[in-house]
Amino acid sequence: MMRMTVLASGSKGNSAVVSSSRTRVLVDAGLSCRELLKRMAVANENPETLDAILITHEHVDHVAGLAVLARRLKIPVFFTEPTHRAWVRMLTPKTTLSYAKWLERVQLEKQERQAAQAAPPIAPEAASMTAHGEDLRSEDLDAVLELPLERECEAADEIPVAKADPASLPAVEYFQAGRNFAIGDIGITPFTVPHDAADPCGFVFEAEGIRMALATDLGYMPPNVKQALAGVDLLLLESNHDLEMLRDGPYPWSVKQRVLSRVGHLSNDATAEFLAHDYDGGAAYIVLGHLSESNNVPELARLAAERAIGDRLTLLGNKILLAQQAAPLEAITL
Ligand SMILES: [Zn+2]
Ligand SMILES: [Zn+2]
Repeated sequence: MMRMTVLASGSKGNSAVVSSSRTRVLVDAGLSCRELLKRMAVANENPETLDAILITHEHVDHVAGLAVLARRLKIPVFFTEPTHRAWVRMLTPKTTLSYAKWLERVQLEKQERQAAQAAPPIAPEAASMTAHGEDLRSEDLDAVLELPLERECEAADEIPVAKADPASLPAVEYFQAGRNFAIGDIGITPFTVPHDAADPCGFVFEAEGIRMALATDLGYMPPNVKQALAGVDLLLLESNHDLEMLRDGPYPWSVKQRVLSRVGHLSNDATAEFLAHDYDGGAAYIVLGHLSESNNVPELARLAAERAIGDRLTLLGNKILLAQQAAPLEAITL
């Protein structure tokens, strides 16, 4: 038996539980700890029996509740080393600015504010997306730093620890892309995806002869990803945006460029292209995920994927589901 429960999927937060009959792993923790616990309760997934948390990459929509949840559940977190380092950097305020650098930054921020006042308002989702990647401005950094201070969620004995070091975790384990490892009886194959993070990964999970794959946050489908996704029984795949909606949508030009780039996100068309020409057609379920709320609508994503699957869609195979941002998807058991 293997099960996947998508707790949330989209540009504002991602998390899923992958379980075998013996082992349970949370993949990403991109909502607040409180919201993650709420979603697990709704989806009948007991947080107390989770064995570990596994992280794809350090963007806020994948790690927002990570530190508080891991400390509360007292379970280890699996990262690649570069992802762990980037995450620690993100939570550590940069206080060692020279005066000249500080002045330069203040002036830059002032110019940006003036430019922003002259430009039309940015949608909240677009504003949060500027926090993606390395170009964190101080306001964004503050927003990131506020997240771990969820007092009511944090275990009482952990509060002093959290204050002293917001990136403290019960245990950290490293894995490497391309090298198989295991958590309990779940075999995990991490593979590199092209995305603007330190060392972003997708995963194939295998237990009891069943294989489930997760690939979101990738700018295009390189050969190594196509190869990794062969022969899976469940495929959670990104279908981030509709190209026209993105082009005509509310994001500032620079963010549009980032989303469209080779290290951005997969469009409905790019996902359909993979499903039509490279996908082997062997999965029972295809779950479309990481849909943008500003630049996509579920029906467009579904339509593109259905067209690509064509007559391979049967009662037993290639059932297409849509993961949601606002609520968990019903558990899928194979
Ligand atoms: Zn990302
Ligand atoms: Zn993401």
